[in-house]
Amino acid sequence: MIFFDNSATTAIHPDVYEAMLPYLKEEYGNPSGKYYLLAENAKKAVEEARNHVAKLLGCDHDEVIFTSGSTESNNLILKGVAEQYGTRKHIITTKTEHPSILDTVQYLETKDFVISYLNVDKFGRANLDELTDLILTKGNQINLVSIIWANNELGTLNEINKISDLCFMHDVLFHTDATQIVGKVRINLSLNNVNFLSLSSHKLHGPKGIGACIIKKDSLGLRTPIVPLIHGGGQENGYRSGTLSVHNIVGLGKAAEIAYRDLEDNNRHLKQLEDYLYERLKDKLGNIVQYNSDQVNKIPGIVNIRFPGINNEILVKKLSNQFAISTGSACSSTKPSHVLQNIGLTLDQVRSSVRISFSRFNTYEEIDLFIKTLQG
Ligand code: PMP
Repeated sequence: MIFFDNSATTAIHPDVYEAMLPYLKEEYGNPSGKYYLLAENAKKAVEEARNHVAKLLGCDHDEVIFTSGSTESNNLILKGVAEQYGTRKHIITTKTEHPSILDTVQYLETKDFVISYLNVDKFGRANLDELTDLILTKGNQINLVSIIWANNELGTLNEINKISDLCFMHDVLFHTDATQIVGKVRINLSLNNVNFLSLSSHKLHGPKGIGACIIKKDSLGLRTPIVPLIHGGGQENGYRSGTLSVHNIVGLGKAAEIAYRDLEDNNRHLKQLEDYLYERLKDKLGNIVQYNSDQVNKIPGIVNIRFPGINNEILVKKLSNQFAISTGSACSSTKPSHVLQNIGLTLDQVRSSVRISFSRFNTYEEIDLFIKTLQG
């Protein structure tokens, strides 16, 4: 099986697997335990992992809160900020977010929050004029702005530095779902005004069911209070209770360490694979293929293309013995993509679009085989 669906998930890196093993065997301590070695070892392993995640993102180690993944991180931030700062009733997001944002803001709408959805351009980039107008007119009624950093279907990058500066200037909290960008493009949270960020380990060759939420401290170094989603023993500075999943956290830490170390190589490799795919497709299939993604302002490795006249479900199914590609997000695969509809594609165009997404483990030979199979 050739795996070209790395936006849905990625293979565990062998070093990640090796790093996790002791914590599934003899090192089974609870990091909240005290004094004895098993607990101390677990605590040390968790803190080491936290440092790796912090280094990858350019934030402080105590700003990293472990969660079960981006879905939980997105829920924690949106609901936690909504409740903590509940006198402000206006939430701003975009029409092309992941369902874990869109469904959560729909839920918050039932709790009397007002949601504004920014329009996006033909590549899925949020409209900053609309955001500026909303910030200027709604001012201190704004509870939170939440905008995806890199879109999971198109790879399109939003202008997060500009957006976070705009929010900061007007005293508005800002969250970004960074699930798809982490490990592909260098991020340094000490250089922008992002307050909250979500990530998932399994998108960067770590295990599933673990992720993190970054909750930045304020300019005085004080914690940003938000209401927790999960109450209990007060782990993770009270932001997220529950016994820590040490083996998974160690896996995420190792994945973050590798991602930091190999980031430029990984970025280059993904870009080269993408360029090679574009060239080969143009060579072999000419103008039949059309691109939904921008080739400039995007993360490398995600290619969203249209084969006019071809049904994407049938194509994906037909290739499925040999290749894993997708018709869009794995989390909303039963419906035609809301992302592609919102960038202005007709339903016919949406239904002829597929997403191919690469990882560090993909090769040119795999792309050659893919093109050959498409032609056949
Ligand atoms: N946000 C984005 C942009 C994603 O791509 C995903 C995973 N498809 C998620 C959130 C949710 O991540 P998880 O399923 O790991 O919680």
